[in-house]
Amino acid sequence: MRIDLHTHSNRSDGTDSPAQLVRNAREVAGLDVVALTDHDATTGWDEAAAEADRVGIRLVRGIEISTTFQGESVHLLGYELDPTDAALTAELDRVLGGRDDRLPRVLEKLAEHGMPITLEEVAAQSGNAAASGRPHIADAMVAKGYIKDRDEAFDGWLNTNGRAYVERYSAPLVRAVQLVKAAGGRAVVAHPWSRGSDRVLTPAVFGQLQEAGLDGIEVDHNDHSDATRATLRGIAQELGLVVTGSSDYHGTGKSEQFRLGANLTAPEELERLLG
Ligand code: AMP
Ligand code: FE
Ligand code: FE
Ligand code: ZN
Repeated sequence: MRIDLHTHSNRSDGTDSPAQLVRNAREVAGLDVVALTDHDATTGWDEAAAEADRVGIRLVRGIEISTTFQGESVHLLGYELDPTDAALTAELDRVLGGRDDRLPRVLEKLAEHGMPITLEEVAAQSGNAAASGRPHIADAMVAKGYIKDRDEAFDGWLNTNGRAYVERYSAPLVRAVQLVKAAGGRAVVAHPWSRGSDRVLTPAVFGQLQEAGLDGIEVDHNDHSDATRATLRGIAQELGLVVTGSSDYHGTGKSEQFRLGANLTAPEELERLLG
């Protein structure tokens, strides 16, 4: 059983449509289970589910919520939640609003640095994404010939310490865990020890998040070294939290290292999570 629990379509900052992603999961990566977890949006679920039925793969309906904890950005994966839950959708609307509000302010900064880009030019890149993101701004910078790829755009411009960085609203982490659980879902912290969040997500904090309803930790992720994975696995085992692994696939928006199936979740862990 090959299970990948974290992927992005073009409904956020991936490059495959939801249907293409599901087809690639089955036909290219040979997965048996794939979760679609677009940033702050569930608008890809229906298209992905229809294609999953067609190609014969199990789809897990998911989302990756932008949250903040002690001033650091933390991503929270939510699975099989009710996408119509009022409290959850209100919070997600606020997060998506923050993404949209940030956009013109980033473009102002880029223009000040001699890289004018219009909102329409970013929209041409984000297409039918529900969640506009820095990767779409990066794609517009590439299309204008200012830089060569997404990496170069983040490096020095869009990264947290970049010249065109603008903060946006994110959901408080504990509240996001509670909202996912209240909407009938399962909550897993995504790549917890990638840059920044490693400082704030201590073992004691994982314990507090578990009290708020946290179900699992994404341990096997390319942002984690082997040593980091071993430590996180130990924390998860100590607390009895589910251990997941996933690719964080973004299509051609990220390197081949993040290909579908690059990291996998054990079948018994999926059973503990959703069974
Ligand atoms: P945002 O959602 O607007 O905060 O942008 C963050 C997203 O940008 C992350 O989810 C990643 O998918 C992507 N990202 C971050 N750093 C890079 C990078 N160096 N190259 C390409 N994409 C990146
Ligand atoms: Fe992303
Ligand atoms: Fe993430
Ligand atoms: Zn992701």
